[in-house]
Amino acid sequence: MKALTFTAPGKFKLTDKPKPQIVDPADAIVRVTLASICSSDLHIMHGAVPQAVPGVTVGHEMTGIVEAVGRDVTKVRPGDRVAVNVETYCGECFYCRRGYVNNCTSGGWKLGCRIDGGQAEYVRVPFADNGLTPIPDNVSDSSALFVGDILATGYWAAKISEISEEDTVLIIGAGPTGLCTLECVRLYTPRNIIVCEPDESRRRFVSEHYPQAIAVTPEQCGETVRALTDNRGADRVIEVAGGTDTFQMAWLHARPNATVTIVALYESNQTLPLPMMYGKNLTFKTGGVDACDCDKIMQLISIGKIDTTPLITHTFPLSRINEAYSIFADKSDNIIKAAIYPD
Ligand SMILES: [Zn+2]
Ligand SMILES: [Zn+2]
Repeated sequence: MKALTFTAPGKFKLTDKPKPQIVDPADAIVRVTLASICSSDLHIMHGAVPQAVPGVTVGHEMTGIVEAVGRDVTKVRPGDRVAVNVETYCGECFYCRRGYVNNCTSGGWKLGCRIDGGQAEYVRVPFADNGLTPIPDNVSDSSALFVGDILATGYWAAKISEISEEDTVLIIGAGPTGLCTLECVRLYTPRNIIVCEPDESRRRFVSEHYPQAIAVTPEQCGETVRALTDNRGADRVIEVAGGTDTFQMAWLHARPNATVTIVALYESNQTLPLPMMYGKNLTFKTGGVDACDCDKIMQLISIGKIDTTPLITHTFPLSRINEAYSIFADKSDNIIKAAIYPD
């Protein structure tokens, strides 16, 4: 089968690999129907993910049809349509039992990083009962494509930010994960949602699809936040951009005693200037997604509360995935997300 392989730092290549097989009784083999490219794939390409193993098939965001299951799998059967979870997790260890599946002692982000992922025709999914979310009949593959990764991240970011209806929430970055975060922040109906994004077409996208959110440039951000909060600053800031100065923006625009949630994956170290923020008494929450709410998210899609299909601005067959990568990496042609389908 064809698989996009991390061959060397800076290089992904479409190669031929054998079709994956069941190796553990908790595994499932999934025939990929749609896959997407995530900015984490670019981080792997840039060598910013030290765990990524050369030779691995990349891709950790996809839907498919279950082809085969190991004898311990109970949640899905061959023929089921499923979304694949970015996190591989056992469901039983100290962290999993507390919902911290990103820190599962026998898992975490493995697919498309430490084990073969889904920018391929088939993928092996370990702990399939946890790693696969069945797709209801009224939900298309396109609607379900982001459930296991960026939408799970947006849902988790909104959840851990503990948003109330009184809050002014500032989301930094209207890239794909920022937009998924916006989708999920809306579920908490906060008083104001401000989205800070330098790219004009992305601000326009926010205004068109999310009229209840206020899209601003980085230059307008501080003034807008202050105007809406009696000069206090945002109650909740969610940093999804991962730019060179966006970490600083996040805490600067937060009011004293605010929660600042950092979802972004930075390519370089950030500075936490504690003397400058002394007395501001901020709470920081950081890290990678605990993607343990995928069934709930799928349900929210099924009842029409979440719709991320407008994020798919480009589609390519797997044989032309390199074109999708170059558009995605350059952020050209107003791309938000590319969906890759099998040839
Ligand atoms: Zn990702
Ligand atoms: Zn675990």
